[in-house]
Amino acid sequence: MTRDPRYDILFEPVRIGPVTARNRFFQVAHCNGFGWTAPQALAEMRGVKAEGGWAVVTTEEVEIHPSSDCEPYHEGRLYSDEDIPALALMAEAVHFHGSLAAIEIMHHGPSAANRQTREVPLGPSHRPVTLNDPVQARRMDKDDIKALRKWHRDAAIRSKRAGFDIVYVYAGHELGIPMHFLARRLNDRTDEYGGSLENRARLLRELVEDAKDAVGDTCAVAVRLAVDELMGDYGITSDGEGRDVIAMMAELPDLWDVNVSSWYNDSATSRFKKEGYQEDYIRFVKSLTSKPVVGVGRYTSPDKMVSLIKGGVLDFIGAARPSIADPFLPRKIEEGRLDDIRECIGCNMCVTSDFTMTNLRCTQNPTMGEEWRRGWHPERIAAKASENSVLVVGAGPAGLEAALSAARRGYEVHLAEASTELGGRVALEAKLPGLNEWIRVRDWRVGQLTPMTNVTIYRDSLLSADDVTGFGAGHVVLATGSTWRRDGVGREHGFAVRGFDHPNVFTPNDILEGRMPDGPVVVFDDDHYYMAGVIAEKCAAAGLATTYVTPALQPSDFTSNTLEATHIAKRLVKLGIKLFTRAAVTGFDGAEAEVTDHLSEQSYRIAAKGLVTVTARWPNDALHESVKELMARGAAPHIVSLKRIGDCHAPSTIQAAVAAGHRWARELDDPQASPYFPRELPKAPSLKRFWG
Ligand code: ADP
Ligand code: SF4
Repeated sequence: MTRDPRYDILFEPVRIGPVTARNRFFQVAHCNGFGWTAPQALAEMRGVKAEGGWAVVTTEEVEIHPSSDCEPYHEGRLYSDEDIPALALMAEAVHFHGSLAAIEIMHHGPSAANRQTREVPLGPSHRPVTLNDPVQARRMDKDDIKALRKWHRDAAIRSKRAGFDIVYVYAGHELGIPMHFLARRLNDRTDEYGGSLENRARLLRELVEDAKDAVGDTCAVAVRLAVDELMGDYGITSDGEGRDVIAMMAELPDLWDVNVSSWYNDSATSRFKKEGYQEDYIRFVKSLTSKPVVGVGRYTSPDKMVSLIKGGVLDFIGAARPSIADPFLPRKIEEGRLDDIRECIGCNMCVTSDFTMTNLRCTQNPTMGEEWRRGWHPERIAAKASENSVLVVGAGPAGLEAALSAARRGYEVHLAEASTELGGRVALEAKLPGLNEWIRVRDWRVGQLTPMTNVTIYRDSLLSADDVTGFGAGHVVLATGSTWRRDGVGREHGFAVRGFDHPNVFTPNDILEGRMPDGPVVVFDDDHYYMAGVIAEKCAAAGLATTYVTPALQPSDFTSNTLEATHIAKRLVKLGIKLFTRAAVTGFDGAEAEVTDHLSEQSYRIAAKGLVTVTARWPNDALHESVKELMARGAAPHIVSLKRIGDCHAPSTIQAAVAAGHRWARELDDPQASPYFPRELPKAPSLKRFWG
């Protein structure tokens, strides 16, 4: 296949100061949970992006001094020469595939508590640090500012030595220290670094000038700036000081990377913001500068990308999440393989990797984060190792991914699904408020499977154990999903809750299948992810008086890791939903729900004709048990492997189901398959015997 000439513009080289990007695809900085702790995994992951056609591949934020330490979150580090080899590895991997390597050196200022280094945080003003640590940042004096400039300059020089082509000055989000100086509410200085905008922008200007002076002969110097903080005049706005800063420094950096702030706005999920919503805020930038401009918007459509370039909005299509979901997105456009693009669904499971300090994971792309330790490549997979055919039972995320990956290996694959519709839980959940983009999990896989000649799909085919053993496939994998419990048992309740056997008790399965309460409803969230929140939203939208009860500190508690918790709480409140936190539903009688407050230990009653209980799920593993039993009785000697994957193994996230399906297919007929994998261990440990 060849590229559609309409997309030629996306593949034009673009000059950035002294360097040239081979096309307009720019992987902007993104966190990944690896940071300084796993340089090989990081380098391999970034290298795959370059191989996939991203002309610029950027690090995550890279801290430049011990007074900038945001542990426990693992970011990059460039404190000293010792850090150069680890970062050089990434630059080398990116160069190997012909792309430019960019580094986002930065100082956190008051946005980090320096938990690990125990240095006193620094900032423009005496203020508590952004995290809730009981720690204040110290107002920097002139010597501190001079020192900061030197650290930044030294880090730029080290970046060049590590092989980077583009060096950032970071004032994006409310993280980089220049942003703290810029924002009026955070800077109460009366010297030349406070007061007027010119003064507040002085540090940013100096850092750019220093970097240009230090490395500008061979490296481009980029600025990442949040041009709107989405808080009106209380913060920086794109029609106010955001615009003025760009105007003041328009030609100073070699590239402007512009976004909105804070991170929870910049990387909002598809539930809250649609593709390209940032456009209105950043559109003005190109009218003020002749330098190339990069911006993000979770763009996956090449037509949209072309319109952004032709419309004079951007010069580079910036991407973090679309490059995670499909590291080969540019190559697929270049090769005219648009249907192969695996589009990001905007769920932010990737973001949870940063907050949970674990290696990067993605719902759509199961190879993400596994490039180095398991050797998984997003586009390559080993050929089949036997002539055994494969039977996959269940076409949810786990079954679809298992079928697709086994088929890509060349196995003859049979996929049986009880329903007439493929997709399992995503087919249903994508109909819930705001989750429509999640259907991409199904659609991409079905789109890939459909033309494959070694795949047969059987819809409307509920298989029994006899069907499975009688089918004749050598490898059988069961991906039969899970069912929500009705009895209230979960984290909070160890025993069935009184009254939960009432006919007006609903589970998420009921709601997903279209059965709704018909009066005031209480939603009990002991699951803590998105489900109870979207169900409450659906109930309120249907006009039901809705109350939300959770033992957690906030609604949909886990979503603080997906940057959604505040968006969710705001939406529930806007919809008039009453929120009760640190409380549990302890009884129900069809007219009232009994709610017990965790702190007062008092119980009270809330009028509720219906109750939706969102607590835990049963794995649908009966088929597995029956097939195993038949096999034990010698019913199917041709079956060489029987496995269950995804929710029928243990209910979890859609990301975990996809990952399980992928892993099963990778490990098929592999006698070496093992839960162990290479780890990046600290360099040879030694003991410093200072005690005598
Ligand atoms: P997962 O997230 O693990 O992929 P899902 O619940 O999304 O799980 O999907 C499970 C799928 O398996 C559903 O589409 C369901 O209809 C299907 N299924 C369950 N039992 C059978 C069976 N016995 N035969 C065929 N399909 C089944
Ligand atoms: Fe997109 Fe979700 Fe993957 Fe992140 S985890 S890249 S949001 S699909």
